[in-house]
Amino acid sequence: MKLASSLNLSIIVGVESRLEYLFTNLDYNIVMSYKGAQVVRTLCPMCGPAMGCGINCYVRDGRLVRIEGMKESPVNRGKLCAKAYASIQWLYSPQRLKYPLKRIGARGEGRFSRITWDDALNLIAGKLSEQKALFGPESLAVLSPQHRSYKDYFIRFLTVHGSPNFGHSGICAMQRAFSFAYTLGTPFLGADYEHTDMIIVWTANPAYASTPTGEMKRILDARQRGARLVVIKPEMQPDAAHADLWLPIRPGTNAALALAMINVIVNEHLYDEEFVARWCYGFEKLIPHIQKYTPEWAAPVTGLPAGQIREVARLYGNARSACILAGNAFDQSADSNNAVRAVAILIAITGNLDRLGGNTISSGSNMPQLKPVNPRERYTPDLVDKLVGPEMPRYFQPFLEGASSAYYRCLDSVLTGEPYPVKTIIAPGTQPTVITRNTGRIIAALEKLDFFVIIDVMQNASMPWADVVIPVASMFECDHPFEASANWIMARNKVIEPMGEYKSDYEFWLDLAVKMGYGDDFWHGSIKNCMNYQLENFGMTIDELRAHPTGIVYQPKPLVYEKYRQVFASLSSRLDKGPYLPEGKVAIYNTTFEKQGFNPLPEWVEPPESPTANPELLVKYPLVFFDTHTSDVFHHGWLRNIPYLREVHPDPWVHIHPDTARSRNIQDGDWIIIESPHGWIKARAVFFPGIRPDTVMGLHGWWQGCDELKRSGYSLLDGGANVNVLYSTDPDKAFDPLVTAMPKQTLVEVRKIS
Ligand code: SF4
Repeated sequence: MKLASSLNLSIIVGVESRLEYLFTNLDYNIVMSYKGAQVVRTLCPMCGPAMGCGINCYVRDGRLVRIEGMKESPVNRGKLCAKAYASIQWLYSPQRLKYPLKRIGARGEGRFSRITWDDALNLIAGKLSEQKALFGPESLAVLSPQHRSYKDYFIRFLTVHGSPNFGHSGICAMQRAFSFAYTLGTPFLGADYEHTDMIIVWTANPAYASTPTGEMKRILDARQRGARLVVIKPEMQPDAAHADLWLPIRPGTNAALALAMINVIVNEHLYDEEFVARWCYGFEKLIPHIQKYTPEWAAPVTGLPAGQIREVARLYGNARSACILAGNAFDQSADSNNAVRAVAILIAITGNLDRLGGNTISSGSNMPQLKPVNPRERYTPDLVDKLVGPEMPRYFQPFLEGASSAYYRCLDSVLTGEPYPVKTIIAPGTQPTVITRNTGRIIAALEKLDFFVIIDVMQNASMPWADVVIPVASMFECDHPFEASANWIMARNKVIEPMGEYKSDYEFWLDLAVKMGYGDDFWHGSIKNCMNYQLENFGMTIDELRAHPTGIVYQPKPLVYEKYRQVFASLSSRLDKGPYLPEGKVAIYNTTFEKQGFNPLPEWVEPPESPTANPELLVKYPLVFFDTHTSDVFHHGWLRNIPYLREVHPDPWVHIHPDTARSRNIQDGDWIIIESPHGWIKARAVFFPGIRPDTVMGLHGWWQGCDELKRSGYSLLDGGANVNVLYSTDPDKAFDPLVTAMPKQTLVEVRKIS
């Protein structure tokens, strides 16, 4: 009884041992050692794009001493991943920024002097006002971090300022969303694992990505129930180890495999004739188009035997129900739109769209809608026309997150001046020198840029080029904003007092807006008023929301299948609000793309470098290299300075097949050089029998040292461990023409460091 009230108060008040034992997910001894600690409920800040897992933070003497999963969270239900447990070391890292800084040395030198917040804001506001008058507001670009709720604040700032240049990554999520939306009428697909007969995990990594959300468990439960599991990816990750069939596809060739599967399904009449006749537009044009993409054609491209391609196509086409989990590799290919469209067509013509056991479309939520901070109503054709390097062509702007230029192209404009040079870049929580390709060119752009502002919690890899460095509070050190998913809303609660001169990311944008004279559009700098505005549809204030320690969970609407009439009539995010699917049917033949000068049917386009695209390169570079951006403990370009995590992977590594290694006199654990036509890096060889022998795989994001483990940092350029130096950024080959996706595969050779 006392226990119940202490839980509501979120405080352990020193109740005696028997009651403490009832904290079901805590070991008795652990509870005893945290007796007297205050427990603050909040949200894990260590990854995106979800709202974050719920966490219970134990605070003693003002210090965060323990984190555990919050059982009441519908996202993670008490589970956490390693990154969350290690976040205490992240919070107390000696590399935390403490106060605002101004550059005093040359660009790249990394010499700064301390300034006040007011000085920093005045400096930035002065520069933006000056450039707005001289070059127009579009001379400002803000680069995107991984998905964070403060993104809407800076998009609002950009829009009020008059710039459309939200520099989105061009490599993640929106690429799949775009091609699904313009083929199926919905940007996002679920998977009905609980009722399915077959699951295809296609270059996704459910074991390592957002692990606590339980997708891997749902897949394994379905497998145990008897569903067939097929995994398509170049190496045997934990999900592939459980598969009935593993297709070790050559990186970057997903479109070729999907097209060949369509070929088999169409020619062997394994499609759902009734669904195709009623709900698909242009199937008759697909039939002749697909004939050239036979399994025999796809075999040398994908590196898979034609028989195996036929087998998986027949399994999928014959399954009573089947669902596909398409992963991030689809976003990182110069052929992204073709690949995603081909998968969408597979789902549709087999009748696996929005049906029991198939790929489902959400029926929505009973939760009210937040009032948006992102002022989409202010987008105009004039604003969109000013995009410096549209992530999607202007006709398709804005897409879901708002108008966007491709991240890389914002930076490239500084060097090319095309169509005009961006003059100021603000980089909140993102590191251009490790996040996008061709680091040498990015550094040249940062050196030429007029003004560069870094906003971060920690010293980062792009900081040496910054004119101003803004230190922001970690999410453990501020009590705003709230976060919301489809069915859950919860206030973020401050766990400890800020350990430096911090504002939050949210406050930074409000304060800068006020300095710029935009206060009327920014609640005159009041974050509380802003949050109360957002919550108006909920009929509550932020204080009232905070009174719910674990937030409020709303029931999802019951899943209704076959919502075709409604979904296929969905209006697009474009300025003209025209429908995604003008024919009101699945766009197998895409008239919208055709009218805009793009191919109406998906086709195969070779990557910039591959064994079939450039066989002449194979003499010097016989292996395919690809990288992944998530491991079991790291995420993008941060967290290598956290000792708990770095102990797991102390050195940059590449997975290499033992036969491939031994033929080059490389032993397990040797340091090796990985060299492509564009640059070279160093890493440790990790023998991995479950990888294609013609392929090596590395991890994106290495630059940081870890003092505690005596690991120094790495060069961002050749000779370091930054995979971005290995890739082509040829403007004619390295970008998907519709969604600006950039490839994550190239050709390399490896050799032991002598
Ligand atoms: S998946 Fe891990 S890092 Fe991400 S929010 Fe959940 S616990 Fe935190």
